[in-house]
Order: sequence, then structure tokens, then C-alpha cells
Amino acid sequence: MLDAVRSALGDKAVIADPDAIEPWLHDWRGRYHGASPAILAPLDTAGVATIVRLAAEHDVALVPQGGNTSMVGGATPPANGRALILSLRRMNRIRAIDPVENLAVVEAGVILSDLHEAAQAQGRRFPLTLGAKGSATLGGLASTNAGGTQVLRFGTMRALVAGVEAVLPDGQVHDGLSALKKDNRGYDLDQLLIGAEGTLGVITAVTVRLVPAVVDRAVAWVGLAGPDDALALLRQMEAQTRAIESFELLPDESLAAVLAHVPQSRAPLSGVHPWHVLIEAVASDAYAEPPAAVLERMLAPALASGLIADATIAATEAQAEAFWRIRDSISASERAMGPAAQHDISVPVAVMPRFMIEAAAACEAAFPGTHASGFGHLGDGNVHFHVRAAPGTDPACWYSDQAPFVTRFVHDLVVAAGGSISAEHGIGQMKLGELERLSAPSRIAALRAIKSGLDPQGLMNPGKLVALAPDHSKP
Ligand SMILES: Cc1cc2nc3c(=O)[nH]c(=O)nc-3n(C[C@H](O)[C@H](O)[C@H](O)COP(=O)(O)OP(=O)(O)OC[C@H]3O[C@@H](n4cnc5c(N)ncnc54)[C@H](O)[C@@H]3O)c2cc1C
Repeated sequence: MLDAVRSALGDKAVIADPDAIEPWLHDWRGRYHGASPAILAPLDTAGVATIVRLAAEHDVALVPQGGNTSMVGGATPPANGRALILSLRRMNRIRAIDPVENLAVVEAGVILSDLHEAAQAQGRRFPLTLGAKGSATLGGLASTNAGGTQVLRFGTMRALVAGVEAVLPDGQVHDGLSALKKDNRGYDLDQLLIGAEGTLGVITAVTVRLVPAVVDRAVAWVGLAGPDDALALLRQMEAQTRAIESFELLPDESLAAVLAHVPQSRAPLSGVHPWHVLIEAVASDAYAEPPAAVLERMLAPALASGLIADATIAATEAQAEAFWRIRDSISASERAMGPAAQHDISVPVAVMPRFMIEAAAACEAAFPGTHASGFGHLGDGNVHFHVRAAPGTDPACWYSDQAPFVTRFVHDLVVAAGGSISAEHGIGQMKLGELERLSAPSRIAALRAIKSGLDPQGLMNPGKLVALAPDHSKP
């Protein structure tokens, strides 16, 4: 297989140096470890098609990989060492930016922050951002249907991708890049590939929607009593303005974790508050009300009525960045406080405030000594719900013996609340078993039918999202 790829695409398309491969065999959080004899690195769509055809011919499994920032072990190859990594990182051209149509055609390996810069240079913006923007690629973002901090206003990748080009498991190219507003030719192949985590084919390029660049923004930090008040504040604001892009909720202990672990970080408010909200408002044209004025107009009555306890609006861009740095540092800071079971979950928005309080209490009662709390995208009904091990717990013992039971417990609560065990990170290998355990048989049967229909040999990212026989991820 490797010789065949070399002779078809040249030596550069095959990376077989173990030192060069090593960093790409492990997931971002260091929880999954795979093996692979080589990384294949094509330069264009035709190269990907050649590789996929050769893989089918040689019965070799492929693991598509972008920036390798998956939170669920989605891009880590199986440990059996028989799959090849198919890296899209050399396919990093922005093919076109059309400021009139507000569209960009972007290859799969383009890094998110590079697209941000290219769009900005044309007075436009790609309105999706997340903590991994310096590494995550457009192919990976589409394949995981990524969300981030602007979903409230612009939706996830499903809403932002207007077309997909992909190589299907038989090596044929699906060209769906044209961004038609109306296209009712039956099954939507583009949407099927978005969120498929590389199990139905390899995305080689996407057409994405752009919006006008931000002219001005304002970021506020609010102290309040609890998630119920936060949701009431959000609904009040949404009723009066469309300028709110982000609304992130965190408990005081998350702020305390950041203050303890991130040098030079400072609490935005002087008093102590049980919960905090970070709010960003933007203006996209020069005639819009200045976002700082919008926030003041919304927060003043909330303060007067006692809905919130205190608030401050960042006076400078540096201060706004400092507020966001607190939000973006929570995961790393909490990790430094000891091992935890982390859950990316969603429940209906109206249920979320009660869920956050009651699920945390239920976890701590069921697993004495643990500490549970959630933070994140309240307006999307999506929080990252972490259960920290009892102080002094051996990390290896926690992850192998205890965390799986905690996770099952949390997931059962989520399902009982009508929610999802994966809000934005996907299933990967981390949640494969839980998806099967907690899904209706009809759903699993449909997933398997789609998978085996498009990938009968089971060669596309085996062992992720949906298990299929023969399972190329097994020893
Ligand atoms: C610090 C940090 C913060 C994060 N914050 C968020 C957040 O707020 N919201 C959110 O949604 N996610 C978040 N993530 C998760 C992560 O950024 C996303 O999953 C991202 O979409 C993955 O992009 P990637 O290029 O790194 O893909 P990879 O990790 O390389 O791959 C992810 C999955 O997509 C598949 N894949 C990759 N490229 C292709 C392709 N071209 N064709 C087919 N399949 C492909 C892989 O096989 C794998 O299953 C965060 C991650 C980190 C590390």
C-alpha cells in the first residue's frame, strides 16, 4: 500500500519516520494512544481519491486527521497498528473568498485562525471560534459539526457549511461545493458528511458562509446568584437586541481555579459571587448602536431589579481579551486541580439551570468525596459538566475504575432530562459504547445501515462513532 502511494503521489505523500509520526498517535488530552506505520499526506483532492482507492484495494483502514484536537479520541488511530493516518494538513489552500456572495471555499486542512485572518482581510468574518482555533482545521470542524462560543447567533458548522467536497469510501469524489440556497435532490449528502467524524468519507474542501466583519465589540462580566437568573437575563436581552453573540456561564469555583493557575489573571469584579456570566455583544455596521451601550442599556435594569448582583464592561480590548482568557482557561485550570470525568452534554435550555444544580448534587451524593460542577454555553443548553475525583485519588485508578461509573451516572441523568451525551465534541472512540447503550435500537440500526451502505469494507476511521463488523480497530 505504501509503495503504491509513493509511486502514485511521490515520496512526500508518505511520512514513515517514527519520530515524525509519534505526536499524531495520541489525542490532545493524552487519553488515547494508537499506532500506525505511516502518515499519508496528499496535496489535493485527486491525491486523496487515489489513496482511498488504494486503501480499498489493499483492505487498509484510514484515519482522517486534521489538527488532532478531537476531545473524544476521534483522530487517534487504533492501537493494532494496521490503519494509516490520512492527514489533510497539506491541503491548506483557501481556494476563494467571495465578499459579494459572503462565501469562502476552503480546503480541509486550512486552520481555523488562518480562515479568520483571510476573511478579515476582505472585510468579512467566519463566525465560529473555539479554544483550539490555532490548530483545528476546517475539515475536522465540519467532520465533528463543531460549535464554539458563537452558536447562539450563528449555529454550528451544520448551519455555516454551504457545500462539501469529499472523497467517498469507494474513491469517487462527491462535489457539493456549489452553495445553492435551494436544492431538493433527496438525501443531503453534505449534511450526512458533516458530523460523520471521518466514518463515511474524507472531506477535502468546504464552502462556508461569511458575515460582515465586526466593527465594534463589548465584553461584560456579570456576577449573579445562580443559573436560573442567568437564563432570565439572557432571555431579557434576546428580547431587546440581536447583538448578543456569546453568553457563557461559570460557577465561582471555575473562576477560582483560573485565578489559582493562570499567572496574572485577575477577578473581573471586586466582590464574590456564586455564579458569573461572560457576555459579548457586537456591532457589524457603523450605524449599529455601540455594543457597550447595548450592554449598559440591558444590564442597568437587571442590576436595579436585583436579577444580577454586579457587572462590569471591559474598558479596553486588552481587558476584553483578559475576560475571554478566563473563560478559555477553565478546562486547563480545572485539570490542574486533579483528575476529573469531563462531560460535554446538552439538555433543553429551559431545563439547564435546574439540571446544573441537581445533577451536581446527585453526583456528589452517589460518589462521596467527588466534586461536580458545570460551565459553558448556557444559551445553547450545552455545558461541560466535570466531576472531580476525591482529593488524593490516584489518577490511573480514577480513570480506569471510577470515572466510567461516574460517566454512566451523568449520562443517565442527561438522558432522563431529554438531553444528548455529546453536545459538540462528537462520539469518537470515547463515547462509542455509551451511544450504543443509550440510543434507541432504531437509531443504532440506521447508523449501521448508513455506514455499511457507504463503507461496506469498514475502512473509514474504524472504531469511531459506530461499530461495524469486520472491525478494523480490533487486534
Ligand atoms: C482547547 C480546545 C477547545 C475546544 N473547544 C471546542 C468548542 O468550544 N466547541 C467544539 O465544538 N469543539 C471544541 N473543541 C474540539 C475540537 O476543536 C473540534 O473537535 C475540532 O472540530 C476538531 O478539528 P481538527 O482539525 O483538530 O480535527 P481532528 O481532531 O484531527 O479530527 C476530528 C474528527 O474529524 C475527523 N476528520 C478530521 N479531518 C477530516 C476530514 N478532512 N475529513 C473527514 N474526517 C475528518 C477525524 O477522523 C476525527 O474523527 C476544542 C478542542 C480543544 C483542544
